[in-house]
Amino acid sequence: MARVGTITTPHGAIQTPAFIPVGTKATVKSVLPEAMADLGAQALLANAYHLYLQPGSDVLDEAGGLAQFMNWPGPTITDSGGFQVLSLGVGFKKVLAMDAQTFRRDDVIADNKERLAHVDDEGVTFKSHIDGSMHRFTPEISMKVQHEIGADIMFAFDECTTLHNTRRYQELAMDRTLAWAVRCLDEHKRLTDERSTKPYQALFGVIQGAQYEDLRKKAAGDLGGLESSGQSFDGFGIGGALDKDSLGTIVSWVNQVLPENKPKHLLGIGAPEDLFVGVENGIDTFDCVLASRIARTSAVYTMEGRFNLSNSAYRRDFTAIDDECDCYTCTHYTRAYMHHVFRGKEIIAATLATIHNERFIVRLVDQMRQALLDGNFIEMKHDFLGRYKHRSGQARD
Ligand SMILES: [Zn+2]
Repeated sequence: MARVGTITTPHGAIQTPAFIPVGTKATVKSVLPEAMADLGAQALLANAYHLYLQPGSDVLDEAGGLAQFMNWPGPTITDSGGFQVLSLGVGFKKVLAMDAQTFRRDDVIADNKERLAHVDDEGVTFKSHIDGSMHRFTPEISMKVQHEIGADIMFAFDECTTLHNTRRYQELAMDRTLAWAVRCLDEHKRLTDERSTKPYQALFGVIQGAQYEDLRKKAAGDLGGLESSGQSFDGFGIGGALDKDSLGTIVSWVNQVLPENKPKHLLGIGAPEDLFVGVENGIDTFDCVLASRIARTSAVYTMEGRFNLSNSAYRRDFTAIDDECDCYTCTHYTRAYMHHVFRGKEIIAATLATIHNERFIVRLVDQMRQALLDGNFIEMKHDFLGRYKHRSGQARD
């Protein structure tokens, strides 16, 4: 199901498959937008929940939208906030467990005085992780916030569940996500008309359904064919609980049902081995905070796998992080220097390591695109996975 394509937005085109780096709060932590462009990032993904809390989506609207505000000339995407109000409110771990074998319980979402988010059919009430103030997101509020932020691609407000929820709860959450999808389309249409002088913003629906084939296919069928206020979704995100071992199976179920002519985005997935699985099952774009988050802890990708630059083995290693990498860091600095700046807690350590990791992942997906065009994707995948040894999780901010 692998394919190449082009997504056209008012701020430019994205050649797919593509990896979209994450700048959660309208910045890729520690890296200038110019450096992100230099390393090949075609678009950046920010988060509606975080920007709503600070500085406020009205500030971005007044600034002329996200791209203008953050000095990023290319396409931008915003995540709806559905995942964040629930994950930060309920207290999911930042890296979602990608293991379906652990026991399931609904009390991660069910009634509990300690939790910070309460879901009802209208929306989600949650406590700010910044100052403890109370807020409420509904599909209409998420659309308003995302229209004010002004990214080229937005996501519908969905209820994100975990692998720990029961099947019954997954069904309820999916019904709710469908009802919210209709409300998102209606409000999106209303706001698009009201703000007709602004560049067009595309709206993607989010496919939930956890690890259940019938639920995933039903969600894909329902949202794929959905039309309300004369609007249908411009593309789709595949979200929610994804068990690493069945990632490819789940993505293929969904993509067999979704309309072929619309973009498919895999939310929060960015480990090298998972990117291959996504591409071969028809995913066009990915986003993930993993590359930059691990960079700040001195973990870097290489063709042979991942290692930690702060490990004492690199103190006198005057080679590049990865001698096959063409990034700014690898062409100007050694592992010994990186080891030194990490050990000394110098700010530049985060900058240089993030540039390398983002380049590694962006380039890997670009190489998959080229391999698809050249007709040698399978060989390229086997070459890469034969050398690369590491498994990591799903990560969204
Ligand atoms: Zn590099």
